[in-house]
Amino acid sequence: MDASTQRFLNFIDGEPCEATSRDWLDVYEPATGRVYAKVAHSDQDDIDRAVNAAAGAFPSWAATPASERARLLNNLANLIDANMETFASAESRDCGKPIVLSRMIDIPRSASNLRFFAGAILHDSGAWHETDQPAVGGPLHALNYTLRTPRGVAGLISPWNLPLYLLTWKIAPAIATGNTCVCKPSEVTPATSSMLGSLIKEAGFPRGVINIVQGTGPVAGAALVQHPRVPTISFTGSTAVGKWIAKAAGESLKRVSLELGGKNAFIIFADADLDNGPNPDSTLNTAARAAFTNQGQICLCGSRLLVHTSIYPVVRDAIVARARALAIGDPMDSTTRFGALTSKAHLERVEDKIAQARMLGATILCGGSRVSPDKLPSRCNDGFFFEPTVIEGLDPACSVEQEEIFGPVVSLQPFDTERDAIRIANGTPYGLAATVYTKDLARAHRVAAHLDAGVVWVNCWLVRDLRTPFGGMKQSGVGREGGVDALRFFTESKNVCIRVDYA
Ligand code: NAD
Repeated sequence: MDASTQRFLNFIDGEPCEATSRDWLDVYEPATGRVYAKVAHSDQDDIDRAVNAAAGAFPSWAATPASERARLLNNLANLIDANMETFASAESRDCGKPIVLSRMIDIPRSASNLRFFAGAILHDSGAWHETDQPAVGGPLHALNYTLRTPRGVAGLISPWNLPLYLLTWKIAPAIATGNTCVCKPSEVTPATSSMLGSLIKEAGFPRGVINIVQGTGPVAGAALVQHPRVPTISFTGSTAVGKWIAKAAGESLKRVSLELGGKNAFIIFADADLDNGPNPDSTLNTAARAAFTNQGQICLCGSRLLVHTSIYPVVRDAIVARARALAIGDPMDSTTRFGALTSKAHLERVEDKIAQARMLGATILCGGSRVSPDKLPSRCNDGFFFEPTVIEGLDPACSVEQEEIFGPVVSLQPFDTERDAIRIANGTPYGLAATVYTKDLARAHRVAAHLDAGVVWVNCWLVRDLRTPFGGMKQSGVGREGGVDALRFFTESKNVCIRVDYA
């Protein structure tokens, strides 16, 4: 390997390190389609080392005062802020996402995740219950209080679409509650998690508290899931891998949180505001943003746009116009609003889905192909770019409408009645998120209550209050992240019942 090639290392027991095997995987820059770095190809040995380090650090970390844990999490957040531009640029290069997005969302939110749980752990409260019941020897009075203790080593596995954002969303609650952790980021986008290692050290975390092991899912990821000293697994990724993890973790009754795929409905009722101007928060601009942000590679993207028949032509034309107007270009250019897909394999999957859609009789209203190289700067001519695509005319029950595409493809479905809208929205195996646009407040409440989705937005999209529960129903997952749910997931509760009238 050329000595100048950038290398993304593991971070185990407080030190950056290569994989024990000294093997490397190629890392591609999606915008150019070329290998730009290597990442440690870790295996069972590296996972063992990391788990041992985490298990060794656990007793003293669990006994560390919450205020000290919070201080170190805040230190890490401050260091991310101080290195914002370096991290944003690394994230965009690694993922192909527009740098404005990394600057505005990915990296600031990573720091917020750490700060949020640093604060949450200081303001968490416990539960107690007073018991007063008849007993054989006379009335019994007791007080119950519930202790919450950390569970040990947490295995944290994250995907490639929001690499640092989703990893810190797991690290923060795990560490704040006194667990130690072994992280396994996606092998497709290892840059920022690898960079985080040196900041963890600088922030002052004791050795072994946070370990990061790079490598593939089937090798490093599976070894982590199956490790006997890891009782907790928090996973975000595809439904297929989530099901495998649930099965593997079931063997030893590990606690598992699964944040999986989605096929989210974005429903526009006839009474929604259809202002066609530049207001970024308008219905039409939000629908377009929900379809195409991060090239449609956000689990919460509104990939099925359900539109009342009376406004269907207006909405269709507006979405197509917005898709055509998106500034496609080099992700590293600040004027770009639509970058590359994150891998060649994913680009080919999206192409496949479009071919299927054509075969099923869809009309491709715009997009539907790779971006022509003459529309891109020359450095990007071999990049993984796919056009923002709007399709219509598919049966809601067909495979393309049922399966997650996770790319820049939005499909339009007309509906006549509120009941139809709910039926189509709920008619997939997924249940992650849904969005409703209407001015009728009663309808908003009614529809929200009937949607099979863990997250429902009304007249907004992607508004995230970190205190609220986040997660999916049906094939979109098991468990909830965020706020109190995350604090509970990473802790074990123990009820202590004390008889108060014992003499
Ligand atoms: P993926 O399931 O292929 O991989 C996710 C992570 O799991 C990666 O780190 C991968 O290396 C690892 N992995 C793969 N096989 C494994 C195994 N056998 N054992 C342990 N780990 C394994 O998913 P992806 O392609 O990286 O991400 C895209 C998917 O993630 C989409 O389906 C998307 O909807 C979903 N996602 C969901 C959420 C959510 O919050 N619900 C958020 C973001 C992404």
